[in-house]
Amino acid sequence: MSELNYLPFHRPDLGEAEIEAVVACLRSGWITTGPRCRAFEEQFAEYIGVKHAVAVNSCTAGLHLALEALGIGPGDAVLVPTVTFTATAEVVQYLGARPVLVDCDPVTLNIDVDDARKRLENCGERVRAMIPVHFAGLPCAMNRVEGLADRFGIDVIEDAAHALPTGYNGRKVGTFGKASAFSFYATKNITTGEGGMVTTNDSAMADRMKCMSLHGISRDAWKRYSASGSWYYEVIEAGFKYNLTDIAASLGMVQLDRCESMWARRAAIAAEYTRRFEGEASLRTPCMGGPGVQHAWHLYTLRLRLDQWSIDRAQLIEELKAEGIGASVHFIPLHLHPHYRKKFGYRPEDFPVSTAIYPELVSLPLFSSMTDEEVDRVCDTVLELCRRHAGRRVYAMSKSLAESEALVEAA
Ligand SMILES: *Cc1c(COP(=O)(O)O)cnc(C)c1O
Repeated sequence: MSELNYLPFHRPDLGEAEIEAVVACLRSGWITTGPRCRAFEEQFAEYIGVKHAVAVNSCTAGLHLALEALGIGPGDAVLVPTVTFTATAEVVQYLGARPVLVDCDPVTLNIDVDDARKRLENCGERVRAMIPVHFAGLPCAMNRVEGLADRFGIDVIEDAAHALPTGYNGRKVGTFGKASAFSFYATKNITTGEGGMVTTNDSAMADRMKCMSLHGISRDAWKRYSASGSWYYEVIEAGFKYNLTDIAASLGMVQLDRCESMWARRAAIAAEYTRRFEGEASLRTPCMGGPGVQHAWHLYTLRLRLDQWSIDRAQLIEELKAEGIGASVHFIPLHLHPHYRKKFGYRPEDFPVSTAIYPELVSLPLFSSMTDEEVDRVCDTVLELCRRHAGRRVYAMSKSLAESEALVEAA
């Protein structure tokens, strides 16, 4: 397969407007945190419908700042779904606290709120917060998440890395809980290369996160080299270096203007995938949402009905690659990774739903610059592979355990 015909798993949707915005920023002479970051924050807060938005250099940084502002530290625990990227649980460990992993709902793949309650009740440490992840852009059942949080007096921080724009009962994700973190990583729904935004309606939290994102220096430290700034500042805390650049913000503002049109294209591609795949006995199409839900469609994650396949998921991804189509897996559940197994003693059977579902997951290309021909090619190729490998593998269900053992050995 030549590079020309290879359809990658993701291709960022960047046009002339983004290029011009970056060039204008470079010509302005102000390239790091400055007026473009402030304008991007205002635009983002208005779009989400929230009082404050703080621009940061990653979603990971945003999650870290949010937990830090809640005062979470050693001896504390935070509930995190096991079906997520390691960033969601890693930030808890930055603060010396313990991530308590939670199994997923078998339909939505979002955090299982009943399992969260059980783990909360049985946790030896003081559970302070919960980080729901809106998997693939499908909102978590926030009424139930908030119900649990209220009942046990814990805070909610949204991992909204996939969730732009995600709607739930007339509100956008980014307005729930104490704070929410978005990602502008290269593959995410809008991108600045690397970047993120943390939103909150709590002014004290916003001030703390702003201060800590730039070395713990007192307000508006970035202005100290501008005409309206002053050389004087005070360090009030040992902060972090998490600020976004104006180069990235200039890109982000154009991307945010295009957020809805890029979303409409991804939603149309997702609808076409489901139309083509839903009658296929060996596939399970993803949950599309229901009343009051706007799915952001960051990912289109198919599930294989493994008893209908003669090959496993890894072989399928290899064959897609050989046919010129990039695919991926979201996610290898955290409890199967060597670090989480060794450090916290998690076993595959502690998370029966996620462990069983993991070998079924395959994410297909889903990005706004995909052409209709590319979408057709993905559909035709997947359906052709379904036919080519129809059959039955005897030991399909033990596969995820074998894979997680292999992961430990590889470490
Ligand atoms: C991408 C991602 C992150 C991290 O985003 P960065 O901007 O790269 O830090 C966090 N959580 C989830 C669920 C993600 O997919």
